Amino acid sequence: MRNIKRSFLSMYSLLQARCHCAPSSSANRLFSARALNPKVCIVGGGPAGFYTAQHLLKGRSDMVVDIYERLPVPFGLVRFGVAPDHPEVKNVINTFTQTAQHERCSFFGNVSIGTDVSVEELKKAYHAVVLSYGAEGKRLMGVPGENLAGVFSARDFVGWYNGLPSNKELCPDLSCDTAVVMGQGNVALDVARILLSPPDLLKTTDITQQALESLRASQVRRVLIVGRRGPLQIACTIKEVREMMNLPETRADMLPADFEGIAEALKDLPRPRKRLTELMLKSLKVDERSQEANKQWGFRFLLSPVKVLPSADGKKVAGIRLAVNKLEGSGEKARARPTGQTQDLECGLLISSIGYKSLPIDSSVPFDPHTSTVPNNMGRVSHTAGLYCSGWVKRGPTGVIATTMNDSFETAQILLKDVETGKLDLSVNKAGAQEITSLLQTRGVRPVSFSEWEKINSEEIRRGEVLGKPREKVLDVKQMLGIALS
Ligand SMILES: Cc1cc2nc3c(=O)[nH]c(=O)nc-3n(C[C@H](O)[C@H](O)[C@H](O)COP(=O)(O)OP(=O)(O)OC[C@H]3O[C@@H](n4cnc5c(N)ncnc54)[C@H](O)[C@@H]3O)c2cc1C
Repeated sequence: MRNIKRSFLSMYSLLQARCHCAPSSSANRLFSARALNPKVCIVGGGPAGFYTAQHLLKGRSDMVVDIYERLPVPFGLVRFGVAPDHPEVKNVINTFTQTAQHERCSFFGNVSIGTDVSVEELKKAYHAVVLSYGAEGKRLMGVPGENLAGVFSARDFVGWYNGLPSNKELCPDLSCDTAVVMGQGNVALDVARILLSPPDLLKTTDITQQALESLRASQVRRVLIVGRRGPLQIACTIKEVREMMNLPETRADMLPADFEGIAEALKDLPRPRKRLTELMLKSLKVDERSQEANKQWGFRFLLSPVKVLPSADGKKVAGIRLAVNKLEGSGEKARARPTGQTQDLECGLLISSIGYKSLPIDSSVPFDPHTSTVPNNMGRVSHTAGLYCSGWVKRGPTGVIATTMNDSFETAQILLKDVETGKLDLSVNKAGAQEITSLLQTRGVRPVSFSEWEKINSEEIRRGEVLGKPREKVLDVKQMLGIALS
């Protein structure tokens, strides 16, 4: 990455010499901003970054906000996480675009904080720094055999079908009959649905062409979605289960024994859980479509991973050994306890969807290794004046975009309050992006502005039109930079 960025140094210097300005379209205001305009930078151009910026810009007419994003392209998990067949969720991009185009906001893509620039350097250049860098790590099952071929984290598998540059070479082998997904959250159901969706339904989405072609050739006919607790503790939402039940040529394959006593518990359940459970009970009934179904999916409950089982040659996954659990307690708080029995499930593809986790960004920033979050109080980073956080790095990797929006607004509100009350020191003028872009130049890093991202956007839409889809994503950082700087 560093080398790619370095190779653009000469082009960057040339541009600067020609324009006498930083690459951002709003560069002029960097130099003309009044002395004590509060200058805030945000680390991460995902939903948390954009929602925080939006609220800050709205809250004060003199605030200047810069967003630094590691990739040359914005929008974080809206682009690289949200499933391609959920285009309506991606409409938030329109709001984020308006924020990025605000006259007091600048976007600097292709800048990795912690590597290209330190948080300390940001703190020197800005009155406040907001960390919104998400949760890019993956939680491991921590069992033997996890490194065998055919075992993937959901993070990587989702990144592969969504065009995340670091996952473009994943090439999962889909020549097996059965896939097992460990975990029963919405991401697990996204993965199961993409594996079983007819490719003709996916071909009009923004799924990458290479993933679509692999899925066309896929032999996967059965996906089992495994959880350590029972049906009443399942973590997914009703929409995702309904989508599984409505998949064409696919039937649900549940085990009635898993649902014993569940119908009787319905009356005491809170409404959303009740509706979800009723839907799962409905899936137990054999429907007429099952005659034509050549694919199946099903939940398997009360099972925890013990060991990934290797194929005869020891080279790839052939199954998973699971500990059989029983529940202690009831309701949401019930805990899974091993019974001492085990059960094996055969599979040629194993995807662990047991969560994401944030990683420490820089040794100067407090980090709680137990929760894998930046310790904070309503977004104020503990014991560190001028440092704030929002989104998944603030509260952990759970919750939808709306949840992220609310907690980002909370952080922005707290920051605005600190400006009002004088808690945030504005007595010294800060150079903001001017200082950081100079540093980047000396380090051979060429930031990508929002208008340069729009060139990548147009090229992706153009490539998509040829294929009859909304966009065909550029998979390679070098190529992205080539298009942005062309
Ligand atoms: C697979 C998946 C599917 C989802 N589907 C849905 C859905 O359908 N509907 C819904 O409402 N929610 C969905 N969500 C949840 C939603 O994506 C999150 O709530 C939201 O993206 C969290 O926002 P964030 O900004 O905290 O993190 P992110 O979206 O991860 O954004 C963080 C950004 O920071 C950048 N970054 C990381 N490190 C650095 C660094 N060192 N320097 C600079 N930049 C950095 C990253 O590149 C990224 O762009 C889904 C989540 C996942 C994982």
